[in-house]
Amino acid sequence: MKIAIRSVASVLAIAAASTLGFLGKAHGSRTPKQIALTEDGYPYVRGEYLVKVRSSAALERLLESQYETIGAVARKSPVMSANNGTWYKVNLADDYKLRDAILSARESADVLYAEPNYVYYTSNEPEKNIPMPGNKGKGGPDYQEAPALPVPPVEDPQVSGMYGLNKIGAPQAWQIINGSAKVLVADIDTGIDYNHQDLINNIWHNPGEIPGDGIDNDGNGYIDDVVGWDFRDKDARPFDDNSHGSHTAGTIAATGGNGIGVSGVAQQASIMSLRFLGGTQGSGTLEDAIKAIEYATDNGAQIMSNSWGGGGFSQAMFDAISRANDKGILFVAAAGNSGTDNDKQAQYPANYELPNVLSVAATDSADKLASFSCFGLKTVHLAAPGVKIISTIPGNQYQALSGTSMATPHVTGAAVLLKAAYPNLKAKELKALLMDSVEKIPGLNGKVSTSGRLNISKAFAIARANFGEAKTGN
Ligand code: CA
Ligand code: CA
Repeated sequence: MKIAIRSVASVLAIAAASTLGFLGKAHGSRTPKQIALTEDGYPYVRGEYLVKVRSSAALERLLESQYETIGAVARKSPVMSANNGTWYKVNLADDYKLRDAILSARESADVLYAEPNYVYYTSNEPEKNIPMPGNKGKGGPDYQEAPALPVPPVEDPQVSGMYGLNKIGAPQAWQIINGSAKVLVADIDTGIDYNHQDLINNIWHNPGEIPGDGIDNDGNGYIDDVVGWDFRDKDARPFDDNSHGSHTAGTIAATGGNGIGVSGVAQQASIMSLRFLGGTQGSGTLEDAIKAIEYATDNGAQIMSNSWGGGGFSQAMFDAISRANDKGILFVAAAGNSGTDNDKQAQYPANYELPNVLSVAATDSADKLASFSCFGLKTVHLAAPGVKIISTIPGNQYQALSGTSMATPHVTGAAVLLKAAYPNLKAKELKALLMDSVEKIPGLNGKVSTSGRLNISKAFAIARANFGEAKTGN
């Protein structure tokens, strides 16, 4: 898999990445985590593992025995409670004892699971200089022109270059409903420029929290978490230091019809910013990913958008997504960008076999599977536009990016529209609607389980047949 071939040296350089001048806060002040690769090529944080035990006493017994047998000195911190047990992170004083510690933990009768603290990356393509439409002289011959939008016209100037909206029938769906602030969607990513002119009106505001008073008013364990949380830097300002998270947020639900910039697939929604990835390579740990998923699950998110991947199978992440499934929360995930078959080479979280996980491949403006896109007849469900997608980036800017990262938020935005029109739909029904309504594309035959690309307009037709008239308006 693509992320597995990053060299340790480059990953370490990335971890110390500098910040950009226009950001609202300084990132990178923490000591960079030391990252290494497992024997099968998965990146993880040196000296750290996650362990699931039935009780804190069981954990104490484990750490005591590891001290006696391999001389491991460890610190511990709770990560998540799930299924008759608790996940803890164990941090060893000596990095090199990690392998022995995990192996001995797995042999202990007190331990349910033990695994490395894996590292994940954003699922966009490294190419960032894709020409924008309207920039005279920079357009170039390979910019993919899109036909003019059908009715109703949207007054956002960049929309004429957003072929993805047309492909998936968003303008037709907007005639029924263009979104709703009542739909709460978690963007689990590199953070969001929540002050961006095209995003600010669609950012979630935690109703139970009073900003800046230093008190956890709603008692959810996080102080002043007004727009979400930054799990990477452990603070209440999940701002974007990378562009990736703002870009995915804009595709989900940049404000439509406001006369500026772009429109999301949903023109309105409430987007919760949960930052666990960051730096120029957009990396983050299993521990922080789980905490972000837990936050979304416990604080009312109805849909989670996940444009990232890497790591081996993690039981801890499986447990977290499983909890979201129990609450009927849809978990949309990028299939990955290594151009490989996910049936043979699993990509997580897209490959978790849970009823709420929807795995998304990327197509271009000609409905061709992108060369970088992962696929999988059994494990990847549908495709969506993911090549040269124009969306928001920090500093009131816009950029075209490519990746299954860009395809995923198209599906998330479509789920927001369906949820706005049919508020009672749960993950299973949303997933079935999005899969049953795809537009079949011959080139996707054998590549994704539905053989098709997202079509929100058709999804509404099927929803009407099954669930009656949509709730319209806002
Ligand atoms: Ca709080
Ligand atoms: Ca706009």
